[in-house]
Amino acid sequence: MLCAEVRDWVRANWDPRLELRAWRERLLEAGWAVPSWPTRWFGKGLPAWADDVVRGEIRRCGAVATVPAGLAGPTILEHGPDHVRERFLRPLLTGDEVWCQLFSEPAAGSDLAGLTTTAVLDGDEWVVNGQKVWNTSAHHADLGMLVARTNWDAPKHHGITYFALPMRQPGVEVRPLRQMNDHSSFNEVFLTDARIPRDGVIGEVDRGWTAALTTLANERKFLSMARASFDGIDPGPALDAAMAEAAESLKVYAWYPQRAGRVDLVAEHARTSGRNADATVRQEIAKLLSTNAIAGWTTERAKAALAVGRQPGPEGSIGKLALSEVARQAAKVHSLIAGAGGMLAGDAPDAPLAGLLAEILTSVPAQSIAGGTDEIQRNILGERALGLPREPDPNKGLPYRDARNR
Ligand SMILES: Cc1cc2nc3c(=O)[nH]c(=O)nc-3n(C[C@H](O)[C@H](O)[C@H](O)COP(=O)(O)OP(=O)(O)OC[C@H]3O[C@@H](n4cnc5c(N)ncnc54)[C@H](O)[C@@H]3O)c2cc1C
Repeated sequence: MLCAEVRDWVRANWDPRLELRAWRERLLEAGWAVPSWPTRWFGKGLPAWADDVVRGEIRRCGAVATVPAGLAGPTILEHGPDHVRERFLRPLLTGDEVWCQLFSEPAAGSDLAGLTTTAVLDGDEWVVNGQKVWNTSAHHADLGMLVARTNWDAPKHHGITYFALPMRQPGVEVRPLRQMNDHSSFNEVFLTDARIPRDGVIGEVDRGWTAALTTLANERKFLSMARASFDGIDPGPALDAAMAEAAESLKVYAWYPQRAGRVDLVAEHARTSGRNADATVRQEIAKLLSTNAIAGWTTERAKAALAVGRQPGPEGSIGKLALSEVARQAAKVHSLIAGAGGMLAGDAPDAPLAGLLAEILTSVPAQSIAGGTDEIQRNILGERALGLPREPDPNKGLPYRDARNR
């Protein structure tokens, strides 16, 4: 029924000669951009599962699908206010404005609420000073989801505000970081008297922690980032522009499949290197493939919870831990197969998997850090699922200024 409706609409509206922007505007106006969003905000008020179904159906009709709403979209939608929704949602969904996440700081990662980047209201503008780090894609972002302290006299979680920071201004300096896998997808971002219009606040002043939790909850959904597929799309300017856009934005994610351990390559790796008859290798592969299948089911349970509009419970953290476990086991099995040669990187002539193995081994550690470390997932499970006592916090309730100085 839903798919038939989408098909009829696409048949009547898709024209491969359209420019990408014009096509996306049509999708927005018709409510097919994010069908789970309210009708007032470019959606159709359908359940969360409809987004994937509709995107898949649009693609099956040979048309270019919409850009996913990412992390900023759901946060702005949920926390507003309306003038912020009006200003930012449309260009986010047409792909005209790209966002990055400015959360982590050198001394505030797992303990994000311990952030010290500060925003002070000066007339009609907020003036921001501080430093962020590990900011994926900050080098090509137009806007940053920035959390900054606006009230040092409130307790830790209560004096934080969530801003939409214009990235292209003199007060914002983005410096790329080089990773041990030789990619460069992160940046340091230095904020020196950076300016944000007074009304560039997402949610409410000093209440940004709640909005930050919405972003973090959505981050878990994007951990197993799908690669864009354009197979079967009608050729034309919209397809060309969508492919160019995806190539640019996915460049920074080129190593993400390696970060997950490349389970898909393990059996073939064992066969081609003649190690598939070794009993230990076979045992380890069997263990990997079964753990991977079980992790997949847990991920499906988490997705199913989200699809019916429920936040995932323990399965979110269990699923994330399982993916870390699978990635580590995959790295171990690849190493067992390749032996010391696995350390050969780049274009060394006999580097296993044409040098990809070295990239796997240097990328897998990121799996247990991004989106909340393994230890933090265990804390969440202990406290929220198993009902264990919370970690002691001697500074609880103190003004953050005093807590920092203790
Ligand atoms: C691939 C990737 C992409 C990222 N993209 C972004 C981005 O776009 N924007 C952004 O802002 N950040 C980003 N990050 C940063 C990420 O959110 C942080 O690295 C993460 O939150 C951990 O913080 P940290 O690195 O400061 O480590 P720390 O918090 O300093 O942790 C160090 C170690 O201590 C452990 N630990 C800390 N607290 C506890 C505790 N209470 N109990 C037990 N153990 C604890 C941790 O588990 C870890 O092993 C990204 C990271 C990665 C790997």
